[in-house]
Amino acid sequence: MGIVVQKYGGSSVATAEHIQAVAERVKKAREAGSDLVVTVSAMGKQTDRLLRLAGEVSQNPSPREIDQLLSTGELQSVALLAIALHDRGVAATSLTGEQAGMKTEGRYGSGVISEIRPERLRNLLAEGQVAIVAGFQGVNALGDIMTLGRGGTDTTAVALAAALDADRCEIYTDVDGVYTADPRMVPGARRIPVISPSEMAEMAWRGAKVMHPRAVELGALYGVEIHVRSSFSEAPGTVITGGEDLERLETRETVAGIVHDLDVSRITLSGIRTGPGTLSRVFAPLAERGISVDVIVESGLKEGRADVAFTVRRGDFDEARAVAEDIAVSLNGKAEGERELGKVSVVGTGMLNRPGYAARMFDTLGEAGIPIRMVSTSEIQVTCVMRAEEVGEAVRRLHESFELEERDV
Ligand code: ADP
Ligand code: ASP
Ligand code: MG
Repeated sequence: MGIVVQKYGGSSVATAEHIQAVAERVKKAREAGSDLVVTVSAMGKQTDRLLRLAGEVSQNPSPREIDQLLSTGELQSVALLAIALHDRGVAATSLTGEQAGMKTEGRYGSGVISEIRPERLRNLLAEGQVAIVAGFQGVNALGDIMTLGRGGTDTTAVALAAALDADRCEIYTDVDGVYTADPRMVPGARRIPVISPSEMAEMAWRGAKVMHPRAVELGALYGVEIHVRSSFSEAPGTVITGGEDLERLETRETVAGIVHDLDVSRITLSGIRTGPGTLSRVFAPLAERGISVDVIVESGLKEGRADVAFTVRRGDFDEARAVAEDIAVSLNGKAEGERELGKVSVVGTGMLNRPGYAARMFDTLGEAGIPIRMVSTSEIQVTCVMRAEEVGEAVRRLHESFELEERDV
């Protein structure tokens, strides 16, 4: 029998009862004969609680210490799951990221996995044990703990599956699969039984929280078949695969889904002096501070002056705005910011080479009286930035106008 990697998200291990239910599932899977590696997130909202605590102690906590702190959330849940399994007569050992051989590099708070040394895991499996690995963490060349970014346990799971050449990676969460829109926002959203890695990655990058985007890309790179399922039911879920289950991939007439992201703010530099190198002067200082910029629009170019607007995550808003103000002043302009924005994207390979999709999106939003603040497009998505309070209505209207409810996938 091959190896299966299972991942349980925070809401699936939120309480002692939840952990017992997960232990029952793990026991069943073990009894079915698979070698099992399980990775688990922190209990419920524990990561948020720890972040809040750090914020109460300091205005400016060190990223290294934040990672040290956040990693403890996952340690609690893996140890508790191992204990619950022991009670059920299942041999299991919990491991930190480091003990499991997860090596990371990059920045604290958004570490990337550089290597996995799976010897310890293989030894545990050879002994018939279930290996339980703390999610969302690894250790860097200094021996310091790093976390992989919010939602990163999905990436831990897929990386483990790739390193161990597992048969599949099962992501257990609080919804029974990937839907055509967030089912909490659109009651008529439909489960997508099979989705391609490229569509899933795009949905994830655009904000569909159900999967960490890096996990999807890693899965595509290493050919890991990912199953997204509910930890509360036996429903079939969604399979993310590039395999032959996907018929008519390029000729399909529809989009995959409507995705939203409420973690969006916008900064506008207006009337700045412009010429060659201006954009670099604006964006290099942001990059130096590790602030990622998403949608960028340059407009109103007239007599050597222009407006430049861009979006950042809300957590980066204050810093980005301060940086932008300095730059704007040095270029004889001014900077403004809006904190409460959101993005809505229409995603799908079905829109390749079909320009009508963007028009239909604008039409739908126009009819709903929702002003579009910024637009960005690529081959398989169109994204509109709008006021945060309008996002829910926009997603519902678009879901309807793209006929995602009636679709037979
Ligand atoms: P976990 O704690 O298990 O990692 P997350 O909260 O990160 O769970 O992800 C699951 C949530 O993702 C769901 O509760 C749902 O509200 C949200 N979500 C957003 N978009 C989608 C989508 N297209 N399909 C399914 N769930 C989605
Ligand atoms: N506990 C971490 C978070 O809340 C990682 C994860 O859940 O995947 O972001
Ligand atoms: Mg998650």
